Amino acid sequence: MPDLPDGERAPEDGRLPDISMDRPLSAYVHVPFCEVRCGYCDFNTYTSDELGPGATPQEYDGELLKEIALAGDVLDGGRPLETVFFGGGTPTYLDASQLTHILGVLEMVFGFEPGAEITTEANPETVDRDYVQELRDAGFTRVSVGMQSAVPHVLATLDRLHTPERVPRVIEWARDVGLSCSLDLIYGTPGESLDDWQTSLAEAIAMDPDHISAYGLGIEPGTKMGQQVRRGVLPDTDPDDLAAKYEIADEMLSAAGYTWYEVSNWSKPGHAARHNLAYWRGNNWWGFGPGAHSHINGTRFWNVKHPRAWAQRLNSGVSPAAAREVLSEQERAEEQIMLGIRLAEGLPLTAGILRQDASIDPVDLAQRRHKTMLLAADGLLRSDQLARSRMVLTLRGRLLADTVIRQLWD
Ligand code: SF4
Repeated sequence: MPDLPDGERAPEDGRLPDISMDRPLSAYVHVPFCEVRCGYCDFNTYTSDELGPGATPQEYDGELLKEIALAGDVLDGGRPLETVFFGGGTPTYLDASQLTHILGVLEMVFGFEPGAEITTEANPETVDRDYVQELRDAGFTRVSVGMQSAVPHVLATLDRLHTPERVPRVIEWARDVGLSCSLDLIYGTPGESLDDWQTSLAEAIAMDPDHISAYGLGIEPGTKMGQQVRRGVLPDTDPDDLAAKYEIADEMLSAAGYTWYEVSNWSKPGHAARHNLAYWRGNNWWGFGPGAHSHINGTRFWNVKHPRAWAQRLNSGVSPAAAREVLSEQERAEEQIMLGIRLAEGLPLTAGILRQDASIDPVDLAQRRHKTMLLAADGLLRSDQLARSRMVLTLRGRLLADTVIRQLWD
């Protein structure tokens, strides 16, 4: 699991420098439990063997309510939530009644905007028809199913517990009760051939979800898979293989009527994930749960990582925030470029080059123009969009998004 970043100490009462609510507000709810730990997993999640009393799944909704109450107090009631996202870990490792309980308290404290998007991630083996019905009855609008692959040997390498046949059943149940459906895929698993990847994409498309995410596998050194790679038991990921699979994904998904709206996300018209967009557009969100990160008006803060430490702080009446970082205007602008350039809507040419008095700096603008023309000449930015003073990645630019960001910033 990655360590938390450094930062200044967060006040024990959780107070923030600026709680003006002039941007939309979202909530992320982290559920840090899984049945088993997948070999590649680097997330802040725990199996039941790893956690003793004071941090059990059964107690978790009760603990979360304390952080929701604290957030309501710190934000002075905040504003109605535009989006809510339950992620993990495995949110559906909890009973549906617990997710219902948490969602009900979020609604009581903040309220929801009309048409709010309310999503939970779900592992296929953890839900059935009754479970998704309960989610729908509670007010969930969307489910994001962790399919990862349709090929048994790939799922086995990833240590996933479900069979490929389970996923279409979950999608059918979810659609029957009126939930919008997304599928999460992973490409680049050791041993996955190009044919395997095409099979997974074809199976995903055949289920006709509203939204598909596809992420290239990154093997972190501290994971079981990282150790297997170090010992030579498994091969490391190959950048050329990842690039080829990304191109296949874009081609097959585009042909099936999905449009990319962020480097790793494609959707049918009108089904881009609004919660994801809230992150990438720099809106405000409160992340609830151990290790969850939040952003409110340029202040980023993050909770202590271990579920027991998180619960103990809440039970002592202390904010679970471990540390925080108050971003300067310049840092916020830089962050906006890093996030916004990944979106299909791109960024205005002037993004992040304001002077202190908020006027556009002509020297920086001239430099930006020069850099973007070079990037367009390299085929990384779209020339037609540059002519409209916007920076939008080409397909090649999407593959090399980090390079584009570095070059814009150097
Ligand atoms: S199900 Fe997801 S969060 Fe849980 S161990 Fe596997 S990859 Fe990690």
